[in-house]
Amino acid sequence: MPSTTPSRLASIPLQNLYSLLEPLSAPPNSAGARFTNWGLSFTCAPLSIFVPETEFHCELILELARREGKTVRAVGVGHSPSDLACTTEYMLRMQKLNRLLEVHPEKRYVVVQAGIVLHELHAELAKHNLAMMNCGSISDQTLAGIITTASHGSGIDFGVMSTHVLGLTLLLANGSRVFCSRTEHPELFLASICGLGSTGIILSIQLQVEPSFRLKEVQHTITFEETMRDLDKLVHSAEHVRFWWFHAPDTVRVSCSDRTPEPKAPVSSWLWHSLLGFHFVQFMLFLGRFFLQVNSWTTHFAAWLISNRTVGIDDSYSIFNVECRYPQHTTEWAVPYENAEACLREFRAYLNKEAEDPHGLRPHFPVEIRFSAADDIWLSPSSGQRTCWIGIVQYRPYGFNVPYRKLFQNYEAILKRHQGRPHWAKAHGLRPDALRQMYPRFDDFIRVLEEVDPNGMFRNEYVNRHIFGQKIDGRIFKARS
Ligand SMILES: Cc1cc2nc3c(=O)[nH]c(=O)nc-3n(C[C@H](O)[C@H](O)[C@H](O)COP(=O)(O)OP(=O)(O)OC[C@H]3O[C@@H](n4cnc5c(N)ncnc54)[C@H](O)[C@@H]3O)c2cc1C
Repeated sequence: MPSTTPSRLASIPLQNLYSLLEPLSAPPNSAGARFTNWGLSFTCAPLSIFVPETEFHCELILELARREGKTVRAVGVGHSPSDLACTTEYMLRMQKLNRLLEVHPEKRYVVVQAGIVLHELHAELAKHNLAMMNCGSISDQTLAGIITTASHGSGIDFGVMSTHVLGLTLLLANGSRVFCSRTEHPELFLASICGLGSTGIILSIQLQVEPSFRLKEVQHTITFEETMRDLDKLVHSAEHVRFWWFHAPDTVRVSCSDRTPEPKAPVSSWLWHSLLGFHFVQFMLFLGRFFLQVNSWTTHFAAWLISNRTVGIDDSYSIFNVECRYPQHTTEWAVPYENAEACLREFRAYLNKEAEDPHGLRPHFPVEIRFSAADDIWLSPSSGQRTCWIGIVQYRPYGFNVPYRKLFQNYEAILKRHQGRPHWAKAHGLRPDALRQMYPRFDDFIRVLEEVDPNGMFRNEYVNRHIFGQKIDGRIFKARS
């Protein structure tokens, strides 16, 4: 573990520190002085929000925090559908640290600043004929954001995106910088690549990449029963396989993508991407707030809109990414791959029961089902096991709220019965006792945090609640609409 070094900034007078940091802080009462996540579900007003432009700025902010005894949370762009990024004290918005620092095509890795948004990263990599090896549903997040939460794409032979990290440069609570990897400070590395922002500020990331590639995606629709019957065959039928399950019509949209040398031939569903698709569905979802049955019709309609078989060829990231549309409440858990069928069947039985009840829930669509290879990252939901991710969503049409708690609680109970582990970026109710049972290295994670950050500078309410078991209400940062 890195040794404690006195900060070389300790001699700067406090007043000078304030002057240096003033241009980087959002003025009080300005829009930038508040942080709200993308889903509009969690919000906070930190004591100060800084927007550092250099690594030195990050060091100055830590120096001030140390002197004033404040906690610090580095954040990306707030795409976590929970209070994972929220804090009441100092917040650093990292997206101006977004430069590609080194490119090593022959060794297939790059070094990039942690705050880069994935869209920017794809564009930078493309200039060098390189690409990320896998990607999730969107490219709006920062690279550090996806890594600290072990965010994932889909592909049974592909690990979560943190598995593509070769090394990290961290700024620790004592002001020192440390490079960690599988060979240098390996424990700090394995704690940080799903570290919930609590081991230190990630400054830069050494990321494994591959030569740019196109994906050929075949999408078709089958029934839920057909999906379950051929589950293993389907999951192994292509490099990247994912399912979108529409419960009301009980159909599953299957997406199978493989690398291809064929030229680009993108597909676009006119109806889905047009005003009709976007606005009509949003209006239907809005009506569904008052007339529950409308939600089932909307699900039928959305499934019908995309029911044709399609074949599209495009740049990897354009195929990996999908349209996530409206602000939303969402949750996602990972079950061991072997439990996927039983879990999905139990969830379906529950949804069927709700559908039979005239006053039962009529959830939004789709249920997203994806797959990851096993890894060895201490807190990764795929740690030690191949994984099936099952995600549900309740949209917030025009930003209005929708009921979701009963649905999410029942979903969680079912996923738990199948040894599910929650996605760290998404709100969940688990506390240390339960998490310790799920993650054999949970106490090693705590040990590393206590070694590198004994005073808890990087612990926010989420981390104190879920990792350290403090009694902090999960709704303290809940946005009220
Ligand atoms: C529409 C949508 C689609 C999504 N799709 C997927 C998907 O396909 N697969 C998936 O797995 N997840 C998905 N997610 C979840 C998303 O990948 C994570 O929430 C991710 O953390 C968001 O990144 P961010 O940059 O917004 O980070 P934030 O939400 O701002 O922060 C997340 C965490 O990263 C930490 N952090 C950020 N930057 C740093 C840094 N420089 N140093 C240290 N810590 C840092 C923060 O402290 C916090 O703990 C999706 C979310 C949304 C809203």
